[in-house]
Amino acid sequence: MRAVAKEAWIEHADALNAGGQYASGRRARSVLDESREAIAELLGCEAIEVIFCASGTEADNLALQGLWQHNARGRVIASGIEHPAVLETVRNMETQGAEVSWLPVGADGVVEGYRETLAGEAAVATLMMANNETGAIQPVQDFCDAAGQIPVHIDAVQAVGHIPVHFHELGATTLAASAHKFGGPKGVGLLLARRSPAPSAILHGGGQERGIRPGTHDVAGAAATAAALREAVAEMESEQQRLSALKESLRSAIAGIEDTVIHTPEHSLPGHVHASFLGAEADSLIMLLDSQGFEASTGSACSNGVNRASEVLLSMGVPYATARSAVRFTLGSASSKEDVDALIAALPSLVARARLAGMA
Ligand code: PLP
Repeated sequence: MRAVAKEAWIEHADALNAGGQYASGRRARSVLDESREAIAELLGCEAIEVIFCASGTEADNLALQGLWQHNARGRVIASGIEHPAVLETVRNMETQGAEVSWLPVGADGVVEGYRETLAGEAAVATLMMANNETGAIQPVQDFCDAAGQIPVHIDAVQAVGHIPVHFHELGATTLAASAHKFGGPKGVGLLLARRSPAPSAILHGGGQERGIRPGTHDVAGAAATAAALREAVAEMESEQQRLSALKESLRSAIAGIEDTVIHTPEHSLPGHVHASFLGAEADSLIMLLDSQGFEASTGSACSNGVNRASEVLLSMGVPYATARSAVRFTLGSASSKEDVDALIAALPSLVARARLAGMA
């Protein structure tokens, strides 16, 4: 969590209920309103379009299920590289009778063929802005343009705070973000939702957040999120340059190790490198890395603890054994050149040890 976010969080930890009519409630409300306005300005939308919730997962669910219900539970358009927050939601809608058009994905991890699929009618179409595993940036602008009258949900959880995001210029109907991805607190999600068509309510309660996300507000979380986003956006350009250089050195060091496959394409998030070390079980490699103080993951961190191949890589046509040997390195604001140099120095011998252990 960024220091500015922690400060804002602590400052407003005692905020009272922003729905209260009494003076302390009104003070809490003004902190909430200011946070909402700051976030709206940073993400290119109106304050009323910012809906606070508790995670990126919740934002994805509220948008997808809400738009699907709003549009008479019609056809849904999605791809297999989506984060489980979207993928499992769409699969759940499929069990409830939704006709789902699954988009093809290229070997570079980018969706294809969406123009034809978007030509018909649909209740909602969804595409992530950047993939959480490979970092591949998706053609979201073209997707929104091609969607025409079809409502579009964009999962921008990996993008917000790292690459420019402007909700109105994009023209999406809804967009999801998550504070912990840009140095804000865990447990704060953002759903940007146009006034119309707005997602139907999935949760029912006191009517907060336009009735789309009822429940007492987390004022401190909102203030910390606004502070983190402000700093992330201000540093975006310089961080992009710094991280891209670190990523490039890591990428070429990995390419220099025998029998490796890099899954991260050229056009990708500044801090992601996802690569397979053929003949090594990814789980062995991340344990060995961990023992040396390098924290990497296999596939999506949310699938950790479950030893299976990444669905994202399989959707890209990567063979099963290759997918099982894939490790994701993510560099962020706390990653230094020294960290990356140390990783580059340690990697060849750790890969050799993991390969000795073989595949499970
Ligand atoms: N969407 C993407 C692309 C993600 O990477 C994540 C989390 O890693 C989520 C959604 C879920 O966000 P949260 O962890 O806030 O529920």
